[in-house]
Amino acid sequence: MAGDTKLVLLGPPGSGKGTQAEILARELGVPHVSTGNMLRDAVAEGSTLGRKVSGIMNAGALVDDPTMAEVVRGRLGRTDARDGFILDGYPRNLVQAETLEAILGASDLDLDAVILLEVPEEELVARMAGRGRADDGEEVVRERLRVYREKTEPLVGYYDERGALRPVDGLGSVEDVSARILEAIG
Ligand code: ADP
Repeated sequence: MAGDTKLVLLGPPGSGKGTQAEILARELGVPHVSTGNMLRDAVAEGSTLGRKVSGIMNAGALVDDPTMAEVVRGRLGRTDARDGFILDGYPRNLVQAETLEAILGASDLDLDAVILLEVPEEELVARMAGRGRADDGEEVVRERLRVYREKTEPLVGYYDERGALRPVDGLGSVEDVSARILEAIG
């Protein structure tokens, strides 16, 4: 299962999505598509997109769906993503899940699986406290967790109903977790 794997990594902030997506992308030979990284790059460049999203990100809120649809459609339309990708940070709500389905469906494509990284809340807070990112202050972390529970967690049921969900225990060493993910996707 290499070269044409289309995966979404789902999980709360601090669950290790970025780290695992990086490893999986290397292992499977597909690009790691991180909307968080793309937005942070845009902020660092001071582009129109970056100027639009920096305040929203620093507040721990979600960037609006039409903006994200444009970002993701553009990235998945590039040739390197045509035969597979690890999507990290998107979708984050039901509207985005439907948008993703439409983007892929237009090229007759579908996701292979959605990995859910499961990590208890106390561990998430502890991990993010040690990370030092611009949006990792205590108050903002709490807001991002609240937004995850309210907007993103419904995607668990959405993908489970479609038979795509693969829950994976996100506790333990980085290597242990990646081994579990590889096993979950066969
Ligand atoms: P984490 O998974 O640690 O919460 P990310 O790096 O995925 O962080 O995202 C950081 C911030 O970027 C989010 O809090 C949000 O403001 C913005 N963002 C990233 N992806 C999306 C998305 N799909 N929809 C809306 N906002 C997004």
